[in-house]
Amino acid sequence: MQARVEEKENLNPKHSKLASRLTECLSPCAIGDVMSEATMNGSCKCGNIHYVTGDPLQVVNCHCSLCRNINGSAFSSYVVTPLADFKIEQGEQMLRGYAATDHAIKHFCATCGTPLYNINPVRYPGLAMIYFGTLEKHDQLSPGLNVYCSSKMNWVNALHSIRSFDEAPQRG
Ligand SMILES: [Zn+2]
Ligand SMILES: [Zn+2]
Repeated sequence: MQARVEEKENLNPKHSKLASRLTECLSPCAIGDVMSEATMNGSCKCGNIHYVTGDPLQVVNCHCSLCRNINGSAFSSYVVTPLADFKIEQGEQMLRGYAATDHAIKHFCATCGTPLYNINPVRYPGLAMIYFGTLEKHDQLSPGLNVYCSSKMNWVNALHSIRSFDEAPQRG
């Protein structure tokens, strides 16, 4: 039901504009210095599924409520690559898909639950949105875009002002 609401939201002119802006931003000329020209490897937590990507086109933080709902996190970071170059190298039989909307499919590992990539052939044809943290060298990438900021949690802009610890604080 939530997914349907989101899909309807996405059809409003404001979001369509955002979506087309995103598509424009995914042109290769938008690749920043942080982007490598090489393909990248990734895997799920349990190691059953391994994948290789094509050239990363962009790294995006998505603040939409659908991503928040299906991932449980305040926002979701994705590395966008051409779908044609995205290959599951190992463990395809463990891969599961969930249709989050009529068009958006989330893929994840059946054993460990790690989300691996999303596709949306209608809105973003030919692209794979790969979950940032599953890439082996994600520490070499940083986001170049925030999208669906109309749905962003207010506190995200003030992360630095929340009490912070290097690790979890001791209790008591
Ligand atoms: Zn796994
Ligand atoms: Zn989203």
